[in-house]
Amino acid sequence: MRIHTLKYRVTRAFMALLILIGLVAASFWTSKQATIFAQTSPLPAADRYSLRDVETTQKVAALTFDISWGTVMPPKVLSIISRDHVPVTIFVSGPWASQHPDIVKAYAAAGAEVESHGWAHVNYSGLSNAGIAENLMKANAAIEKITGKRATFVRPPNGDFNSRTIMASRAVGYTTVTWGTDSLDWMNPGVPTIIRRVTTRIHPGDIILMHASDTCKQTDIALPTILQDLKAKGYKLVTLKQLLTYGKPIYRG
Ligand SMILES: [Zn+2]
Repeated sequence: MRIHTLKYRVTRAFMALLILIGLVAASFWTSKQATIFAQTSPLPAADRYSLRDVETTQKVAALTFDISWGTVMPPKVLSIISRDHVPVTIFVSGPWASQHPDIVKAYAAAGAEVESHGWAHVNYSGLSNAGIAENLMKANAAIEKITGKRATFVRPPNGDFNSRTIMASRAVGYTTVTWGTDSLDWMNPGVPTIIRRVTTRIHPGDIILMHASDTCKQTDIALPTILQDLKAKGYKLVTLKQLLTYGKPIYRG
């Protein structure tokens, strides 16, 4: 009987030891996994990636134009969006905006939201954090002087960004915006290609990238057909800020 009790106690002690070893091993494993996770995923999506889309089932999208150069294409695009009463978002380079304040004002009067395309048209990944901040502040001084409103979104020049440029921009109050659909109009690929790109890729919550700089030669010819097609598909075009009221912003790599 005593032997049995002893055996039972030894077995119980052994089991307890096994459980203890198991717990210690599990806690080591968990902390190691946490470390690995922290190394591979140190930032929330909004700090790593750019704003691409808005999560919604409604047929709504933001049509956006980058403008950094010229006096021919900007008014052409303006006359089309004014005629069709399309609220768009323009991302303007600081130097261009300060040289053509009347064009920027006319866009704003036509219901356009005016945001930032920075000052120098260079890759932000090649700038220091201070350099990025300086470019954004300088561009905003020009924009705010014209529109009376502070820009809060930046479309990075050349679409170049990384998690550091995104955080450096956020530190001075800017959300980095790219696009859900690239029209490719900046490549002058032919009017049918620009139209096809937009009308086949459009989706609810989309942010469409187009350009109204003089270097883009086909945008004004493609634009009326694009507007017609999106309307026929039941899409409502709104500004970027309006789009964000339709759903959760999506940040993707
Ligand atoms: Zn640009």
